[in-house]
Amino acid sequence: DEDPRVTRIKRSIRVVPDFPKPGIMFQDITTLLLDPQAFKDTVDMFVERYKDKNISVVAARAGEDRNPTLEFPITESLAGIEARGFIFGPPIALATGAKFVPLRKPKKLPGEVISEEYILEYGRDCLQMHVGAVKAGERALVVDDLIATGGTLCAAMNLLERVGAHVVECACVIELPDLKGRERLNGKPLYVLVESH
Ligand code: AMP
Repeated sequence: DEDPRVTRIKRSIRVVPDFPKPGIMFQDITTLLLDPQAFKDTVDMFVERYKDKNISVVAARAGEDRNPTLEFPITESLAGIEARGFIFGPPIALATGAKFVPLRKPKKLPGEVISEEYILEYGRDCLQMHVGAVKAGERALVVDDLIATGGTLCAAMNLLERVGAHVVECACVIELPDLKGRERLNGKPLYVLVESH
């Protein structure tokens, strides 16, 4: 029996075939954000799961993505996509009493940073985090809207683990299981609300 909240969340996500190019089933979460109940249910489900897990850090990514699945620099085609990691992270951080830590593309963060470069099928990418934002021993949750190949989540986890944090779990609204991104997470648990094939 499916949680009725999951049913609502699923229905609220618009799938746009062949966007931004033929063969891509684009998972559009802007329609989820248009449904206040679905948006609230999404945040609530994550908060329920993490509120008693002593999470002190919620980390999420933002920044233009060169994504292997999409095979082109997303910035060229999709304005605003870079903010999606920032939509779900902050409300979860507020409700669980954790701090929110942005993971960003190079040259966005003004302070001293550590960088994690990662190789994608069609190029390389880099995420940065402020030095001192996360301390050794902290318990971190990594949040993103969607896991495709898992490359982005993997880089995010590496950043946190390099400063000695313990990544408790990765949490995404949507998983594309056919891309087997889960297998790239080095055994780290992944919690998703919706699978899309
Ligand atoms: P990856 O590093 O391959 O797991 O890609 C993760 C990011 O790419 C997600 O956070 C999304 O922003 C974006 N992405 C990849 N595939 C899709 C898709 N089919 N629909 C929407 N966004 C996607």
